[in-house]
Amino acid sequence: MGWKNLDDMDLGGKRVLVRVDINVPVEDGKVTDDTRIRRVQPTIQDILAAGGRPILLAHFGRPKGKVVPEMSLRPLVPALEAAFGTPVTFCADCRGPAAQAAVDSLAEGAILLLENTRFHAGEEKNDGGLAAEMAELGDIYCNDAFSAAHRAHASTEGLARLLPTCAGRLMQAELEALESALGQPQRPVVAVVGGAKVSTKLELLGNLVEKVDHLVIGGGMANTFLAAQGIDVGKSLCEHEMTGTAQDILAKADTTGCKILLPSDVVVAREFKAGAENETVAADACPADAMILDAGPDTVARVAEVMEGAKTLIWNGPMGAFEIAPFDAATNAAAKQAAALTKAGQLITVAGGGDTVAALNQAGAAADFTYISTAGGAFLEWMEGKTLPGVAALTPQA
Ligand code: ADP
Ligand code: MG
Repeated sequence: MGWKNLDDMDLGGKRVLVRVDINVPVEDGKVTDDTRIRRVQPTIQDILAAGGRPILLAHFGRPKGKVVPEMSLRPLVPALEAAFGTPVTFCADCRGPAAQAAVDSLAEGAILLLENTRFHAGEEKNDGGLAAEMAELGDIYCNDAFSAAHRAHASTEGLARLLPTCAGRLMQAELEALESALGQPQRPVVAVVGGAKVSTKLELLGNLVEKVDHLVIGGGMANTFLAAQGIDVGKSLCEHEMTGTAQDILAKADTTGCKILLPSDVVVAREFKAGAENETVAADACPADAMILDAGPDTVARVAEVMEGAKTLIWNGPMGAFEIAPFDAATNAAAKQAAALTKAGQLITVAGGGDTVAALNQAGAAADFTYISTAGGAFLEWMEGKTLPGVAALTPQA
């Protein structure tokens, strides 16, 4: 992998600039979900334990290079103190004399939070001047914001070029999980890709057919693949203009030897609402006035069989309209089985995506998965096979 982690650095007495993603939801000045804050706690704890001085850099919202008081990080201080169990001081700039003074007076064992990096236009432009000013505040740069690593910004990429650099614990865990899922995986590898549209997952599908042994296509996007095979999908969500693309993906899978699994039976309804009257029909028998909202039990059994024989599972996108029962059945069944196989030590399971994480939580399966990524866009780009600038910058160039 080529990058260093905190264990490789001499942190004693050092000023450690830690790029974190604490872009948490806030209502009426209070943090309503502190998951992202809690996830950086191991990094902070390890830096403090090694005698380092953590100085946090982060963005918050989209102030677009201007000071927007509503997007200040200051209101997050109490939530940080609660999560870290350590005093947190705040400085209203992430560079310049005020920040320098705050760093100089940082007490041992305390944490400094610097103001929203995106208050400076140079942040999103990856401006070398801004990066240099921030670099003056630290001895070591630790990037713990995998979820921001798909952006080449001054605090996610530029800084790494200016200081000795390492990955934080969350970044490390994320990279190790992704590497075990798609980099050097134990085979066979099965990918489950679902969700609403082919158009949003095109590059993902294109990369996966090159790398995985089995590709399960579910959710609304499966309808587009069914339509590509000349099947009438009635009133189902379907991107008819994407059927040619779906055919290209199927053809590519043929050449790479990736086995594609499409629904063989489907659950159809006439209304998109919870408890709607529904029936299970063969995948090529959706009535003209109905829509496909979930995969059927025969499909679930075939997915289960593939999972049984696999060593690694990657999952992005629910298999059906999981928000409304009973159209969460296929997603729940597959999620529970993946969780059970993981628990039995038979399967490595890595999942990501906003709705996917919600669906796995709803199924009660998330806790047993090997790794659940909350990185959103960065997770998808990694799965698409793209180089993330923030990750690339962790490895010093020759
Ligand atoms: P993620 O956020 O995990 O990447 P997506 O946003 O791609 O996932 O897809 C999730 C959405 O896809 C959900 O809102 C779900 O209701 C929808 N979906 C899945 N299957 C169907 C279907 N058959 N018809 C309509 N919508 C569907
Ligand atoms: Mg989504």
